[in-house]
Amino acid sequence: MRALGFGLLWLILVPFSHAAEHGVVVLQYHHVGDDTPRVTSVTAAELEQHFAYLKEHDYKVVSLTEAKELLAQEQVPDKLVSITFDDGWRNVYDNGLEIFKKYRYPFTIFVNPYLMEQTPRIYMSWEQLRELTEYGATIANHSQFHEHMTWRDIGQDEAAWQQRQLTAIVEAQRVIDDELGSPQPRLFAYPYGEYDAKLAKLLAEQDFLAFGQHSGPWGRYTKATEIPRFPASANYANLDTLKTKIGSLPLPVTAHEPAEMEVASDVEEVNVRLHIAVSDDVQLQRINCFYQGDVIQPNVDDEGIELTLSQPPIGRSRVNCTLPSRSLSGRFYWYSVPLVRPNEQGRWPD
Ligand SMILES: [Zn+2]
Repeated sequence: MRALGFGLLWLILVPFSHAAEHGVVVLQYHHVGDDTPRVTSVTAAELEQHFAYLKEHDYKVVSLTEAKELLAQEQVPDKLVSITFDDGWRNVYDNGLEIFKKYRYPFTIFVNPYLMEQTPRIYMSWEQLRELTEYGATIANHSQFHEHMTWRDIGQDEAAWQQRQLTAIVEAQRVIDDELGSPQPRLFAYPYGEYDAKLAKLLAEQDFLAFGQHSGPWGRYTKATEIPRFPASANYANLDTLKTKIGSLPLPVTAHEPAEMEVASDVEEVNVRLHIAVSDDVQLQRINCFYQGDVIQPNVDDEGIELTLSQPPIGRSRVNCTLPSRSLSGRFYWYSVPLVRPNEQGRWPD
């Protein structure tokens, strides 16, 4: 009887202890077209190819709100994907409408209401955005002005900075809610994917989920104001590489250092530490990290990894770490740490 009990326990526990933990892969797009900056564009043909791939390979496309609810459950199903578009470019409507109608996937468009008002010609109109909601769109917040929100003006005190950013967030949401006719899900995409602890706190206090531009799936340890997304435009649009990201798993990083994205302008090297919940499926000896086209060899211990990045460039950069799953062949855990190094004036390019 006792042996049978242990046998049953073994049957129950072993499959779970080896099981990979799933997350939600959020894809990030900007322009849809072939006459816009390639670095932030997919062609309509590429977008359709991505959408067809998700369908053919049984991915479930969920809204960001559904993704949040599924992640709150104990067992997240495999193969969840969310789709996002930043800035609300008019070409998303012009070149994407037929694709959205055909697939009827949920997707989110992050808009800057003030900029839409200033230069309506290049952005979708509210009427077009409302039309897209009939085919799966959620309209969400990308701030009023699309500024580098962490920049402080010379002589600006913290209270004044905070008030300006709070207004940029809250006022944008007010316009969105008014134009859509009801309170919309509180979803925010940081302009340029840039944030710091104070900006994240402002968004948390306003009950927003906030999305960056560092890559990796959204998993149970992801902070609600630091949600990663995979860029899917330009060089990243190629399905040969994109499908690895679409199939990726969230590396269970419980914390990372440095906690702030911005490093000192005169920094020569940056030490990065990832605290990782290891398991039978997550074996740290198998981890690989990449920075600026180089492979970085991390030091591995029982609780995580440490690596040194030398000569970070002025501006944004990110270190990516991947680790093959033992239980799911061909599948990789993924985590990315965003960094930004200012110049001596505390600024960096778009
Ligand atoms: Zn943007």
